[in-house]
Amino acid sequence: MNHVIGIDLGTTYSCIAYLEGNEPRVIPNLEGLPTTPSVVSFTQTGEKLVGNLALRQAVTNPENTVTAVKRLMGKKYSSDEVQAIERKSPYTLGQAENGDVIVEIDGQKISPQEISAMILAYLKKCAEAYFGEELIDAVITVPAHFDDHQRQATKDAAKIAGLEVVRVINEPTSASLAYGLDQKKNQVIAVYDLGGGTFDITLMEISDGIFNVLATTGNTFLGGEDFDKLISDWLISDFNKKNEVDLSEDKLALQRIKEAAEKAKRELSFTTESEINLPFIFSDKSGSKHIKKTLSRGQLEELTKDLIAKTFPFIDQALTDAGLEPKGIDEVILVGGQTRMPLIKKTITDFFKKDPTEHINPDEIVAMGASIQSAILQGKMTDLVVLLDVTPLSLGIETENGIFTNIIEKNTTIPCKKTMAFTTVENNQRRVRVHVLQGEGDIAKDNISLAVFDLVGIALAPAGVPQIDVTFEIDADGLAKVSAKDVTTGRTQKIEVKPSSGLSPEEVNKIIKRTQVDDDENKEVVEDEQT
Ligand code: AMP
Repeated sequence: MNHVIGIDLGTTYSCIAYLEGNEPRVIPNLEGLPTTPSVVSFTQTGEKLVGNLALRQAVTNPENTVTAVKRLMGKKYSSDEVQAIERKSPYTLGQAENGDVIVEIDGQKISPQEISAMILAYLKKCAEAYFGEELIDAVITVPAHFDDHQRQATKDAAKIAGLEVVRVINEPTSASLAYGLDQKKNQVIAVYDLGGGTFDITLMEISDGIFNVLATTGNTFLGGEDFDKLISDWLISDFNKKNEVDLSEDKLALQRIKEAAEKAKRELSFTTESEINLPFIFSDKSGSKHIKKTLSRGQLEELTKDLIAKTFPFIDQALTDAGLEPKGIDEVILVGGQTRMPLIKKTITDFFKKDPTEHINPDEIVAMGASIQSAILQGKMTDLVVLLDVTPLSLGIETENGIFTNIIEKNTTIPCKKTMAFTTVENNQRRVRVHVLQGEGDIAKDNISLAVFDLVGIALAPAGVPQIDVTFEIDADGLAKVSAKDVTTGRTQKIEVKPSSGLSPEEVNKIIKRTQVDDDENKEVVEDEQT
């Protein structure tokens, strides 16, 4: 194995790092910057732009610029979350045959996995330029609360980008690795991770080089983007009141407002007032209209305090799951750009009655932790580090009357497995259906359907005689696997799997081939232009 890079594929920004000696280092992108906007844009001339180049032309090309695609990964088009995104999205969303959400650019249907793969391919290119060698292997981070579909979608995106994922690691766990590596004392830490699109809280015990996750929970649809949206809505509603013009359907104006809202929000972490100036935001016969508003830190806090409050039930849940109280936490670590907001720092300080740890860069720490994990996997760490992560969601099956029967409880240390015995209910029954789900609801339909497994070709026998042991596993990447054995014959039981979501291996390969053709054509164009 050559260099293995750590990748934090963020909702709004992504970052890559590697380990030099025992020190994590951020790898700059092609423009020399430590983080890269997770933005992909498709230009009129058929070019694909990634990162800052894509972000810079988002205002003039909003319909073909995809931001925050991470929020769509592994999601169904009909889900409430996707429907809420669609209402405000400047780009068009649609539905794949299996119900997954897709992005439509110029009539072309593109999966979120493919768009994420474009970001990953760019990051791979940055790292390759930095090292001057081809890189394949990567540790990639995901929000702790990502379910199986979202994790698998991330792995597929990496595969399409030409990366071999040596491990998927949870973002807060990754951050704690980077924080805890040089900590000498044993302690329990809380990682409060509020990024662009997701929120996670993780409680972890660090003792003698063992990083043991005690509990993790969160919301994959709560992040900085929601703060931006509230500021945007405030600007739109104010403009509407003054001018009786609704800007919420004007994609160009919306993109400009969104960018200005985010900029003001960032500024207000360091100043108490921010000017929002958007000249010529609207024009009609009566002339041009502009947005000129001052947003104070106090107003921002009033607008967004409910979003911050939404994170606290998760903290309570994690503490309960770990059997801890706030005073049992020794250190609090803030991760994700949104935690720079002073009100978040203050609310967290009040809750835990201690100041969060300073001297951590919330944008870079996750990628740094991933680089440490890559070194651990390569056996390169000189100090002994053992990482014991957990599954964020319970895994179970649907049983009679649509009840969810829990097989592997949330917060179980991974990798883990559990075996259950199944049998037939009718004479000579040849197949048994197992519906696997993930979640905490008592009713199956309240949880995420992972797949339907059919145990097929069961030997003819009276009802209740066959015994088939089905093993449910969660691997080190947090991904579920199911295998089965016919105990009566000792043979591996055949299973037919119908996943509820995601790309099939054939689809992934098709996209890889298509991407290669596109890249070759692009190369030819570049070469033609140069000759
Ligand atoms: P991440 O996913 O960790 O890159 O976090 C990105 C989110 O952090 C985005 O929503 C940014 O708008 C937000 N963010 C970055 N810097 C600041 C800041 N200074 N104040 C408030 N939010 C910020």
